[in-house]
Amino acid sequence: VAKQKGKNCYHLFDIESEGAIKARHEILQSITTALHNREFVLYYQPKVNMRTGEMIGAEALIRWKHPVEGILSPAAFLPFIENHQLSIDIGEWVIEESLQQFSRWKELGVHIPISVNISALQIQQRNFPIRLARLLSKVPNVPPEAFQLEVLETSKLGDIKKVAEIMDDCVKLGVTFAIDDFGTGYSSLTYLRRLPAKVIKVDQTFVRDMLIDPEDRTIVVGVIALAKSFNRDVIAEGVETIAHGTSLLALGCELAQGYGIARPMPATDMPDWIAHWSTKTEWTSPSLQLLD
Ligand code: C2E
Ligand code: MG
Ligand code: MG
Ligand code: MG
Repeated sequence: VAKQKGKNCYHLFDIESEGAIKARHEILQSITTALHNREFVLYYQPKVNMRTGEMIGAEALIRWKHPVEGILSPAAFLPFIENHQLSIDIGEWVIEESLQQFSRWKELGVHIPISVNISALQIQQRNFPIRLARLLSKVPNVPPEAFQLEVLETSKLGDIKKVAEIMDDCVKLGVTFAIDDFGTGYSSLTYLRRLPAKVIKVDQTFVRDMLIDPEDRTIVVGVIALAKSFNRDVIAEGVETIAHGTSLLALGCELAQGYGIARPMPATDMPDWIAHWSTKTEWTSPSLQLLD
């Protein structure tokens, strides 16, 4: 009986994994088609300086305009392509599209420094700096200083020495780096020391709860202090309320990004948002301090 049971289980498992492989294959196929059909779009989320009120740039965030499902967030499709060539192809599209967007905004007279998210697989490609250089020269009128690459602090980065060399070659082109979701990985301090990143992004989970959870607040304080002592800029993600802003400013973190300032939006909405933002005063430090 036991043997029979075991055999059945094995059989069941077999069918399941076959199904999983087929499903995965179909998803990869549909993502490939979507890329060809130009179904991906970039939304942009503003980043601001809460002390001066200045808009300092925008992060490009991918969305899939699915013909049936509607707008899909990256969590719905990026995990399937994590270790796949497709993540490199999509990553390349993201860079080119965001550079072109920079230049479209520039033609309208708006200067918006851009950051894009780079996958762990992408940044481990030895030829990444050459490909980046090619894309930068393909799109005219984009100063590399206005282009930032966000790299996750994750063990998936693999050989840190190799990644640091690749990043150094990119820095030589004039672009800058940010370490994304800082504090969530396992090797924060080594990464901070070894990677040539100008900016540290405090992960939104710590920021979100910093007002109610003393331990999250301690992490935020620690990351800000670390960034300062390593001479990096620090930006808080997930700033949802003015109370977050007030607290962050008091801790010495001036740069912020979050739903409380703006949600990610289509590129065409950005110029209007900027015009509107410049008339808002509640997000600049005198008003923030009044709330303190
Ligand atoms: P991320 O780079 O850390 O981006 C921030 C995410 O937090 C975005 O989610 C943004 O919409 C969301 N967010 C911003 N402010 C707030 C807030 O105040 N509250 C909350 N709850 N969320 C906030 P999104 O767009 O769904 O992206 C999720 C992740 O997917 C990104 O995290 C990034 O790791 C990845 N991703 C997005 N676009 C790309 C891309 O083009 N390439 C790659 N490789 N990864 C991407
Ligand atoms: Mg990011
Ligand atoms: Mg992040
Ligand atoms: Mg994230």
